[in-house]
Amino acid sequence: MTRTIPRAPLPPLPPVWERLDFLAELDRREVRVPWQRRSFVVRCPLPEHEDRTPSCSMTERDGRWLVRCHGCGFAGDGVDLLAALDGTTPAEWLRLRAQRATPLPVPVPVRRRPPPAAFRPLCPPEELAGWLDACHQALLAGPASAAARRYARQRGLTGAEVRAWRLGYGLPTRLPKLGRLVGRLVFPCPGGVEARAVDAATPKYLSANLLTDGKLPFALDHVTPTAGPLVLVEGCFDALALHRAEVQAVALRGKQLPAQAARQLQALGFATGYISLDADAAPAAVLAVARTLHRAGLTPYWARGPQAAGDWGELLTRPVGELAAAVVEGLALQ
Ligand SMILES: [Zn+2]
Repeated sequence: MTRTIPRAPLPPLPPVWERLDFLAELDRREVRVPWQRRSFVVRCPLPEHEDRTPSCSMTERDGRWLVRCHGCGFAGDGVDLLAALDGTTPAEWLRLRAQRATPLPVPVPVRRRPPPAAFRPLCPPEELAGWLDACHQALLAGPASAAARRYARQRGLTGAEVRAWRLGYGLPTRLPKLGRLVGRLVFPCPGGVEARAVDAATPKYLSANLLTDGKLPFALDHVTPTAGPLVLVEGCFDALALHRAEVQAVALRGKQLPAQAARQLQALGFATGYISLDADAAPAAVLAVARTLHRAGLTPYWARGPQAAGDWGELLTRPVGELAAAVVEGLALQ
């Protein structure tokens, strides 16, 4: 007569075993077993079996107790034994236990807030895309956009960058919100645009969002965790400078990160974000961005920013080696 249970591959541990103290359950049913051991033979606890010599073996394997009685032939796991001791079926035993283990519902205070008005896009996406295409072509050639081209060059942008990022020259349009952007340097953003004046016009930057109700960061649609760490900067030129140094960045178009954008970064797979706002940014603004990242599940870090320039964007006019060195220096963590 063998008293060991042959080792065979087990199915995955049923969830009940994660919180079942089998030996304590036996004790509650007045079945005495050696507590310190993970395998033993005792007298069969089943009421039908008058076991005069210990013939019931119990062995813990991978978090689950297995039971076999060599006298009456009972074989099963601890749940089967407890069910038999309680005079019920294993299925019923598990059902009752699950009921007992279900936590009591805790009243959750319901914040009554009016539901936000559903956002409705101001135009079909293809109409915005069409306008952006026309603006991009307009920036590449034509007398009207000469000043905008000159400005882009003066800020250090290359023709390749203008094409890669599809920067544009603001053209008149009947689409809503975009009429104010005529003559400006246009940066396509997810669902909208950011537009920089190319002369002394104020404000320097104008935003227009047609497909979203928040300012989604510039370059949000150009970043991926496989390309390395992510830096959150203030302006489009800042982001372009970092990208030139092969460091991914998104531009917050100001100092605010919409929760929707942070969730999008998390969904893309980013786990961290390096915040590098302009040196004059209020600590509260930095903290707010950090909180938004944190709430979306990203760990925020604070990078000190460029040391020998006012902002990242200024580095675009420097030789590429100098830019790369300044980026490395400026991304040191504080
Ligand atoms: Zn037995």
